[in-house]
Amino acid sequence: MVSIQVHDKTFELLIPGSRIREKIRGMAARMNEDLKSERPLFISVLNGSFIFSADLFRELTIEVEICFTKLASYQGTASMGRTITSIGLDADLTGRTVVILEDIVDTGRTLHEFLPQLLQQGPKKLLISALLSKPAAQQFPVKIDYPGFSVPDKFLVGYGLDYDGLGRNLPDIYCLKQ
Ligand code: 5GP
Ligand code: MG
Repeated sequence: MVSIQVHDKTFELLIPGSRIREKIRGMAARMNEDLKSERPLFISVLNGSFIFSADLFRELTIEVEICFTKLASYQGTASMGRTITSIGLDADLTGRTVVILEDIVDTGRTLHEFLPQLLQQGPKKLLISALLSKPAAQQFPVKIDYPGFSVPDKFLVGYGLDYDGLGRNLPDIYCLKQ
C-alpha cells in the first residue's frame, strides 16, 4: 500500500492520477455532447477545484466560458444559522447554462446553500459537476449532474484538496489512514 505523510498524518493512496484523468475524460465527453449548443458558463469553486477545473476544461471541445469564485461561510447567531457568501463572482448568469465545478461534495451543505443564490440570477439551467462525493456523509440534498467518484466518508488530500494548506499538488488522491 502506497502511503505518504502530510504534516503529522499518514495518508493511503485511494485514486491514482491515471484513473482521475480517465474519469475526467468521460465527464468531459458527456458535457461536450450535452452542452454543445449551450455555450455554458462554468463556475469553479476555489480553492479545492482549481486542478479539477483546469484538467476538465482542457478536455472540453465546445464553446465554453469559465469564471471562479470563493465561498466564505459566516456563522451568525444560532437562530440565524450559517450564511454563505460568494466572493469574486462577477459573471451575469441571466439566461445562461451554468455548470458548477466542485472538488468534493461532503455533507452537501455548501452547495445546498449556494445554489439558491445562483438561481436568483435567473440562469437557464444550473448543473453541478463534482469530482468526488461522499454519499455516506451527505446530509443536504444535492443533485450532481456530472459526478466523478463516490468515495468513503474519510478525509482526503491531493489533486487540489489540502490538509492544512499542504497536499494540493499531489497528482493522486489519498485518504487518511485510520
Ligand atoms: P460540504 O459543504 O459538502 O460538507 O463540504 C464541501 C467542502 O468541504 C468541499 O468543497 C471541500 O472544500 C471541503 N471538504 C469536504 N471533504 C473534504 C475532504 O475529505 N478533504 C478536504 N481537503 N476537503 C474536504
Ligand atoms: Mg470545495
